[in-house]
Amino acid sequence: ANVLVENDRRVDKDRIRTKDKSDHATIENVLDSRIKNKLHKLFERGVLAEINGCISTGKEANVYYARSKNEDEIAIKIYRTSILTFRNREKYIRGEYRFDHVHSLHNPRKMVKIWAEKEFSNLKRLEQGGVRAPRPHLCGGHMLLMEFLGSDGWAAPKLKDAVLTDSKSRTLYRECIEIMWKMYNKCRLVHADLSEYNMLYHDGSIVVIDVSQAVDRDHCNAMEFLRNDCSNVTAFFKKHNVGVMPLQALFDFITD
Ligand code: ADP
Ligand code: MN
Repeated sequence: ANVLVENDRRVDKDRIRTKDKSDHATIENVLDSRIKNKLHKLFERGVLAEINGCISTGKEANVYYARSKNEDEIAIKIYRTSILTFRNREKYIRGEYRFDHVHSLHNPRKMVKIWAEKEFSNLKRLEQGGVRAPRPHLCGGHMLLMEFLGSDGWAAPKLKDAVLTDSKSRTLYRECIEIMWKMYNKCRLVHADLSEYNMLYHDGSIVVIDVSQAVDRDHCNAMEFLRNDCSNVTAFFKKHNVGVMPLQALFDFITD
């Protein structure tokens, strides 16, 4: 597992945009001994052949780039188990039938495990409902393996970083509305953190990511989360000169 950290150091220099010097400490922090053991087992099974650096270090998770034995590109998301980051997660878990049996919300490690499982199951729902999102491979502990989106080892840009013409923005706005409609009506999900930060621009279209906090549409706060998603998306496309629908009309279109 030290190889991992070595690789990060190498990769930092050329292709990965990590933020600051504290990253090494952060990476050590994320890769506790349980995760190292889990990764080790995946190497033994050939699920993983190499881990090649860090795609993103965020507040709640780090994402690593890896390859399997048969050269498939994989993204590994490893969630943080620190107290600070899971404090506000409870409201996304409580109030939904899928997690009503969960009584361990005070144990950080168990909590993060649920978080990873939640993202895995939400990605499955997206796949089944025909919404473009990374295909989930497996989850174990506080780690999730999924399809890597990008080309030649370069992660696809976030929508906020994509260079878009006005006409392309209009097309993507319509696509985004269709995605929200499908998520709600086919997958029965509300993303609850949908914005240009959690959509990737891949092969000319939008791919939804980061669905650990997404809730079933029957969740008691689902409508509040959906309104917020509608308003984030609207603000983004408005900035890109798209003639957007009024918020209420968008909300009604999705929920009617
Ligand atoms: P968080 O925002 O909680 O840190 P995300 O799931 O949004 O976690 O992932 C962080 C970043 O990692 C994303 O913005 C994206 O740049 C990258 N990323 C996440 N999943 C993938 C993936 N499957 N393929 C390529 N890049 C990814
Ligand atoms: Mn994110």
